[in-house]
Amino acid sequence: MFFFLYIIGLVGIKSISTVLNAENVRIKEAVSIKIGIPGGLLYHRYATFINTFINELDIECIFSIETNREILDMGVNSCVNEACLPMKIFHGHAVFLKNQCDLLWIPRIMKCKNSESICPKFCGLPEMVMSGTKRKEGVIDYPLYMDRKREVRHYLKKLSENLGCNENKALRAFKKAVISYGQAEKGIWDKEYPFIIFLAGHPYNIYDKFANMNLIDKLHSYGIGVITEEQVFDNNKEEEIKHLMKRPYWLFYKNNYGAGKYLVRNQKINGIVYISSFSCGIDSITIEMLKNDIGDFPFLILKIDEHTGEAGMNTRIEAFADMLERRRIH
Ligand code: SF4
Repeated sequence: MFFFLYIIGLVGIKSISTVLNAENVRIKEAVSIKIGIPGGLLYHRYATFINTFINELDIECIFSIETNREILDMGVNSCVNEACLPMKIFHGHAVFLKNQCDLLWIPRIMKCKNSESICPKFCGLPEMVMSGTKRKEGVIDYPLYMDRKREVRHYLKKLSENLGCNENKALRAFKKAVISYGQAEKGIWDKEYPFIIFLAGHPYNIYDKFANMNLIDKLHSYGIGVITEEQVFDNNKEEEIKHLMKRPYWLFYKNNYGAGKYLVRNQKINGIVYISSFSCGIDSITIEMLKNDIGDFPFLILKIDEHTGEAGMNTRIEAFADMLERRRIH
């Protein structure tokens, strides 16, 4: 992932005006350039890294604002109907930025570390956004295979050649960003609540307060603290998936299934709340397998999309909190 983020920063090192498309990158003339970074999807996990990297490069950059009703509406209007809520929200952020920057960064992630796959929607994200926002040029849309160092280097080389970037400065910025990301607090572990639950789901559903309707605050108000998968070591997650007939190849699956199973088996939590996007295939499989493997254990699944009503969610959280309390008494 870091190499991927590294690439984002490289784009803005030089002052140039470019026309970019999937096949070709050409420099037109030397003028100031502004890069736009949509604040959706994996920005929620890698904000520290991206912000440090951009700062170190000292380039002009515009970030979108936090998700709100206006962003969501723009996303719903510009994205295909069948897409999940996080995709629609990402579209909304892209629409918000599209007329304010020279280059719009749309990550096209093909593979993650250890050859783990990511949701196919990430692979086609630039096409979806370009079609939905009607912005066909000035989009960074190279495919990224983060599991192969050679591919990443090739990608960087191609990009820096086309943009005339100084690779050394970018490398220094990259190293600083890695350090700052490494030192940053990741995930949540509330220790001061009577109950603690594993809050499972994708980072963009867990950390986007608008998308999840302030779920964490709601849980806190019922005396329920939260732990997220970042707080479980990778080797513990790996241990939990070893018994499966086939090694799961989805990154999000491993993180949620592995962490959930580990926390239940080691009696570190009172329940699981899974915040899931309506129509997400990876979530459907993860939820079913986790449910089957943990037996009789409190498990609340909250499905969200742009139509989800807050009152319904409140009722379900309240009922879940009651159940935790009853289990404690009995
Ligand atoms: S993994 Fe699920 S929630 Fe995430 S982008 Fe893909 S379909 Fe949407």
